Amino acid sequence: MVKSDFMRILVIEDEVKLATHLSRALEGEGHEARVVHDGKVALIEARDGKYDLLVLDVELPRMDGFEILKQLRSSGVATRILMLTARSENPDKIAGLTGGADDYLTKPFGIQELTIRVAALLRRAARGMAVDANSSPGVLREGPVEVRVSARTVLRDGIRVDLTPKAFDLLVAFLARR
Ligand code: CA
Repeated sequence: MVKSDFMRILVIEDEVKLATHLSRALEGEGHEARVVHDGKVALIEARDGKYDLLVLDVELPRMDGFEILKQLRSSGVATRILMLTARSENPDKIAGLTGGADDYLTKPFGIQELTIRVAALLRRAARGMAVDANSSPGVLREGPVEVRVSARTVLRDGIRVDLTPKAFDLLVAFLARR
């Protein structure tokens, strides 16, 4: 039986203590959490599409969170992303830079704040999954287009297509109702 309230979460944060704290809290909520401390390693891991959610810090060694976000979205990875930003940054700049993210939290934040945001993203993801419940597990097809719902990935003739999270949700809803 599939656990509907369960997500595979990748925590991308180089502060080891904080990363451990976050992943334990998420595991405490019943999720599976993996931690990565390095920006470039994170990008490789996240590109796999095997995670339901990325918790992505901005300040990371070798590649920052904004660059990871940009590269993931431009290569068609639509996995939900919750960004962790620093309070010292300008709010307008954050809004612009986190444009491709699903939500963001400003540091420092309480652990409960994080689990509430994750639960909200989970509910949104669950609605996306629900429309797919009667077809083959997690995959919708229409001509050359293949949609992998849980990985939030769209392929056209086997090549990844770049979609915003909103466009992805619309596509899934459209395919489920055709
Ligand atoms: Ca950091």
